[in-house]
Order: sequence, then C-alpha cells, then structure tokens
Amino acid sequence: ITFKGQTALVTGAGSGIGEAVAVALAKSGAKVAVQDISLDKAQTVVARIVAKGGEARALAGDVADATAVEAMVADTVAWGGGLHLLVNNAGIDGPSAPTGDYPLDGWAQVIGINLNGVFYGLRFGIPAMLKSGGGAIVNMASILGSVGFGGAPAYVAAKHAVVGLTKNAAMEYATQGIRVNAVGPAFIDTPLLAGFDKAARDWLISQHPAGRMGKAEEVAALTLFLLSDHASFITGSYHLVDGGYTAK
Ligand code: NAD
Repeated sequence: ITFKGQTALVTGAGSGIGEAVAVALAKSGAKVAVQDISLDKAQTVVARIVAKGGEARALAGDVADATAVEAMVADTVAWGGGLHLLVNNAGIDGPSAPTGDYPLDGWAQVIGINLNGVFYGLRFGIPAMLKSGGGAIVNMASILGSVGFGGAPAYVAAKHAVVGLTKNAAMEYATQGIRVNAVGPAFIDTPLLAGFDKAARDWLISQHPAGRMGKAEEVAALTLFLLSDHASFITGSYHLVDGGYTAK
C-alpha cells in the first residue's frame, strides 16, 4: 500500500488508534495532519513520524466544534495541497451509567464528540476532497456500532449513528470519487481504557473469543486497507476488527 502524493487528516491522532493510523499512513508515504484536542500529544506524534523520515503537521482543536473542524480542514489543504484521506477517529468513552440515570451533560459531550465530530469531519472534509479530485474516508465506529453495552447508552447511540452516517455519505458520493467506510473495533488496548481496573479488564478480555484485546496497529492495518486502492469497490460498509467479539 502506498499513499505517495496524498494528504491525510486524522482526528484524535495524539494517542491510541489515531496515532497508529497516522504513523502507518506516514510510513506509507502520505503527508499526515495529526489532529488532537491536545497540541502536546499531536506534536509528540509528529516528532515520532518526522524522526522516521515521514511528513506530518500537528493541529489542535475540538472536533465537537464545527468552526474548529472547518479550520483544521482548511489548514490541512493549505499545508498539504489538498485532502485525499480522512480518518474521523477522535472519540471518548464518557460516563458509565444505565440509561435511566445517564448524566445529561455526559450525553451531550459524548454525542458532541463521537457523533457531531464525525459529521463535521464529513461536512467540511467532503467538499475539500471533491476539490482535490476524490479520496477515501474512514469513520471510527466500534463493535458498539452494532451491539449494546450496559452503562454506555450515549457511546452506543453515537457509534450506531456513525455507521448510518457512513452509509448515507457513501451513497451520496459513490460516483464522485469518494469512498466512505466505518471500522468497528472491539476493545483495543489504548489509553481510552485507563478507567477499567484489573478485574474489569479481565472480564473484557474474556468477552473476546481471541482471548485478548486488540492492538491499535491491528485497527490501523484495516483502516489503511480501506483507505487504499485495494478497497476500490468497498464503500458504505462497516468492517469489524473484533477478535470474534460479535460472533458470539
Ligand atoms: P485514546 O483515548 O487513546 O485516543 C483518543 C484521542 O482523541 C486522544 O488523544 C484525545 O486527546 C483525542 N480527543 C478526545 N476528545 C477530542 C476532541 N473533542 N477533539 C479532538 N481530539 C479529541 O482512544 P482510542 O482507543 O485510540 O480511541 C480512538 C477511537 O476509536 C475513538 O473513536 C473510540 O471510540 C474508538 N474505539 C476505541 C476502542 C477501544 O477499545 N480503545 C474500541 C472501539 C472503538
């Protein structure tokens, strides 16, 4: 897979899955805008990429803020000469509580980042991509884009919605040179799971037939495939990388 001559924007790329995707894209020749709400984290990832001979730029901003997303797309285009690859990856887990007790501000925050953030990425990324002659988009959903998880109503609702949004955008732009797909990872060992103690982690692991959690690099491998020309007839679909979690 090569992305030479292409410019990518990866949101939430200062850690975990986004970081692995940004590093892998840069290694495959793309110029990568590494976006994160933390400029520090984005800069650390850029330094890691540049040290290996890749090209990257750090961008800070909140994907829940439409104006910030519009600006980060414009910045990426000005720096990279276009936008060909977009990974709407930024996300949070949010509070844990059953639906009848779910904190209202937690609901708004999770929907703001995990759903609105993806919509804003599409809303501003698609016009830029059309001007650049087309490209490919991956939206980071989750296994929780197709099954529930007690205590996570906002996350589950947002990720199901991301799968729907992916299908809609894919249909709309399929003849205009833009493919849009969603990825559904099971539990991946990243800082997102820092809130789980040892017992909770062991229980999570037991839910995966593979007997372990996934690695960020395993999600990046699927994401790069979907972004690449190898996936030229794949659009509007939702691709699991889940160690068998949803096969049970
Ligand atoms: P992570 O916490 O390691 O990384 C997420 C990054 O997003 C962080 O660097 C954080 O600073 C950034 N971020 C948070 N809010 C932001 C905002 N408003 N604007 C911009 N950046 C923001 O998490 P991760 O595990 O790498 O998760 C990445 C994506 O993968 C998320 O969408 C998550 O829902 C999804 N996912 C994760 C898992 C998992 O088990 N780790 C499973 C399925 C899906």
